Amino acid sequence: MCGILGVVSYSPANQLLYDGLQVLQHRGQDAAGIATMDGDTIHLHKGNGLVRDVFRTRNMRALQGNTGIAHVRYPTAGSAVDHNEAQPFYVNSPFGIVLGHNGNLTNAEELKKQLFVQDLRHVNTNSDSEVLLNVLAHELQSKSKGLRLDADSIFAAVSGVHQRCRGAYAVVAIIAGYGLLAFRDIYGIRPLVIGVNETPEGNEYLIASESVALDTLGFKFLRDVAPGEAVFVDFQGRLYTRQCSDNAQLSPCIFEYVYFSRPDSVIDGISVHESRLYMGEYLADKLARIWPDVKIDVVIPIPDSSRPSALQLANRLNILFREGFVKNRYIGRTFIMPGQAMRKKSVRQKLNAIGLEFKGKNVLLVDDSIVRGTTSREIVQMARDAGALKVYFASAAPPVRYPNVYGIDMPSRAELIATGRTDEEICREIGADALIYQDLEDLKSSVRKANPAIAEFEASCFDGIYITGDITPAYLDKVERGRSAGKANKSADDDQMELELAMSASSM
Ligand code: AMP
Repeated sequence: MCGILGVVSYSPANQLLYDGLQVLQHRGQDAAGIATMDGDTIHLHKGNGLVRDVFRTRNMRALQGNTGIAHVRYPTAGSAVDHNEAQPFYVNSPFGIVLGHNGNLTNAEELKKQLFVQDLRHVNTNSDSEVLLNVLAHELQSKSKGLRLDADSIFAAVSGVHQRCRGAYAVVAIIAGYGLLAFRDIYGIRPLVIGVNETPEGNEYLIASESVALDTLGFKFLRDVAPGEAVFVDFQGRLYTRQCSDNAQLSPCIFEYVYFSRPDSVIDGISVHESRLYMGEYLADKLARIWPDVKIDVVIPIPDSSRPSALQLANRLNILFREGFVKNRYIGRTFIMPGQAMRKKSVRQKLNAIGLEFKGKNVLLVDDSIVRGTTSREIVQMARDAGALKVYFASAAPPVRYPNVYGIDMPSRAELIATGRTDEEICREIGADALIYQDLEDLKSSVRKANPAIAEFEASCFDGIYITGDITPAYLDKVERGRSAGKANKSADDDQMELELAMSASSM
């Protein structure tokens, strides 16, 4: 998952973009980057790590200009450790373009070949985002009128991108000399919003993955970018918008509401927080229906994203709600995590149980979702160690059984605890006394309740239905093979890092 931002402003964009990236940090912690446009020059700084670690004062000073884009990255395609794959990406022709992408192209490999053979463009990384940038560049080149570019040609180029690219893409880009371009794939799988700030000099526009960035940067929410739509803001602050596809149909990713987005964001007219409250209500009704005789003394959320669902579930069932786990807010990332054993340890470092809330009680733990099951297993054990009599477990989302190919780092089927297992088997695996999952229809109703206009959701990790229609079992096998190869490389890198650490420690 990634977070993107773009701004056309009347004052320097660097601090605003930095602050915006910090608000979107939950969407990606592996790399960060900012590009600004200053006269004829594009300034770019990017690197691996958290926003606060990537940018130093000298980098910020160099990011001159009132227009810019920014990106935080969580690797979903390409390689996590290669800092050449941090974004934004730059291409010098035509005009000079920098681009940031959230999502994942499902036909990147074919496009890469096409770009090389037909368009004579070389893509230098394994990143699908660099492929996307080159497709956009080629389309801009073929649609521009000689040396000039206007809004019509830019929108024609985006139509060309929609015709060639499959998968999920929310995009911000600067075209040197022209302005800021943003667009969303024809299903609107990943979120994108526009905000405005009215100043005496004119309107400033901010494009962001989530509305929380508009709130915190003082921009007024204008609207979501529609699926298939493109937005262009020129350097004079004029806004142009156009629907660039005849086949657009909004189907936002439902996992944004379950886990990814911040609760204070509103995505496609749906408050993430409100949808999570409804998830709790639906789950409470199912629980009352299928567990009429189960005695629960206390509902305990697993911090943080399950809290609204857990609270509303407890309210609806008239059961006590208590915080039972304390999260260490200051924990850094565990940089060398070769296997599950390290992950287990990192759960314990992140969360600790308050004995008083568990001792002698039948507890219902509520989480937003169960993915690998590692967290749940560890937390159930923590509850038992803290003296719980019975440990019941509720997931505000249905079982995650299929990989995500649209930009969420959702493991291969072999790593997903729910693939090939019944609910009873999963319950045994995580060591709970009973386990209840949200039904998919109830999850969809929870989200739709806040905006009934949304007919469809991208919910492939739950139902295996891939909305772009191009995902075959062979494709999934290939992605999974790529994942394990990537992992092997990553652990080789980690081993190298461990070796380097050991060497520097011994030379001290
Ligand atoms: P686990 O079952 O051990 O994989 O952990 C599941 C928990 O991790 C969920 O309750 C979420 O809070 C969080 N989570 C869900 N999806 C992801 C993801 N793609 N990457 C990282 N964390 C996730």
